[in-house]
Amino acid sequence: MDFKKAIDNSMESLVQDIAALCRINSVEGEEKPGMPFGEGVAQSLEAALKLGQDMGFKTENFDGYVGHIEYGEGEELVGILGHVDVVPAGDGWNTDPWGGVITEDKIIGRGVLDDKGPIVTCLYAMKILKELNVPLSKRVRIILGTNEETDWKCMNYYLNEVKPELPTMAFSPDSEFPLTYAELGLLQYTLTREVKDMPFIEGGNAFNSVPSSAKVELDVKFADELKKAIAEAKDPSIYTVEEKEDKLLLSVKGVGAHAAHLQEGVNAISFMMDVLGKLSITGELKEVVDFYNEHFGTCLYGEKMGVACSDEDCGPLTLNVGMIYVKDGKLVLCCDSRIPVSFAPASIIEKVQAKVAGTGYEYELHSTERPLYVPKDSKLVTTLMEAYRTVTGDYESQPQSSGGATYSRTMENCVAFGCLLPGQEDTMHMANEYLEIDKLKIWLEIMLEAIYQLAK
Ligand SMILES: [Zn+2]
Repeated sequence: MDFKKAIDNSMESLVQDIAALCRINSVEGEEKPGMPFGEGVAQSLEAALKLGQDMGFKTENFDGYVGHIEYGEGEELVGILGHVDVVPAGDGWNTDPWGGVITEDKIIGRGVLDDKGPIVTCLYAMKILKELNVPLSKRVRIILGTNEETDWKCMNYYLNEVKPELPTMAFSPDSEFPLTYAELGLLQYTLTREVKDMPFIEGGNAFNSVPSSAKVELDVKFADELKKAIAEAKDPSIYTVEEKEDKLLLSVKGVGAHAAHLQEGVNAISFMMDVLGKLSITGELKEVVDFYNEHFGTCLYGEKMGVACSDEDCGPLTLNVGMIYVKDGKLVLCCDSRIPVSFAPASIIEKVQAKVAGTGYEYELHSTERPLYVPKDSKLVTTLMEAYRTVTGDYESQPQSSGGATYSRTMENCVAFGCLLPGQEDTMHMANEYLEIDKLKIWLEIMLEAIYQLAK
């Protein structure tokens, strides 16, 4: 099919429609009747549905949680999973993050990449197929979530309350080209023990981040030992010691990173424990330090917890301790593991529970997400890869696995496809999120080819 002219004719209004949708601040807000995630999110969903309606598609709004835009006839259903909510703007913008600014060569605004640009692009691909009357044998449905950036409550409601007809094949344009066929399973849990005379200790601020700082209070009598331990540490420059009366405050400066890429970080808690393990401390602090160094240490792949495993698709399991703190008489360690698709999260849970049994620590599940896996030789993956390759001529980039999580793992036979192109700057969740119009045109070409090939 030659869609070239239709694509050229669509670009101007595509740019306008993406910019307009990005002018709606759809950060999660206070719940209101019919607006489970606040007014901005509701407005954003309505605006996206209205776009679809104006193009002549069937639309439906499921109580403000999820929306449908559907085209075509046929038994089978092709799904496209996106979201209309966005992360907060944050600081550092050179333009109004909610301005939907259009320059000569780009659109700038929160959501242009994640995920408003991609969903409007898919909508335009459907519009072109409709206008050109291209014969299709399957229905195509865009499924719009509203709470992707925080809790995925929209998809929970949709799958468990609405219980919709599910697509037989689907993709989520909320990641990168060419395609992600495997997303590691996710397991977050806490290990907790009672403490009575634990000194001040804290580090990190989220399960899924490598902690960039950690602190602990020590008796001043350890000053010399501490000095020596720091001097012998792998990187002495990350430690600072302040002396206050009869106390020492040891601060450790790590490097923050997403737990899915923990190799890029330096875990401040682990390196704090490493040094504490060399001191002649006693009591509860000593017990906690020993437990930590026996079960976590400074390794990244769960070796000491006895959960190390890996597979060809995903590489090794990772284990990040994201937080340590004392609250209500309890010391809490918050752990995040990304699990290769060949291993069930339940089997890892069993191993952790067995390992900590009898240590005085209690295991508690915080959250778990099943992995995504669609074989590389499946029709879905080969069809989408072919569409990407035909348009871009890029035969080198291969389908990938990822420790991140997209909606694609919520459904069977669904992968992440698009929309960041190789070499395209990733400004998702950052200041000055932007989308170049020449890249947008390639997105539209790929999506048009992909949807056509899947639904023909
Ligand atoms: Zn997204």
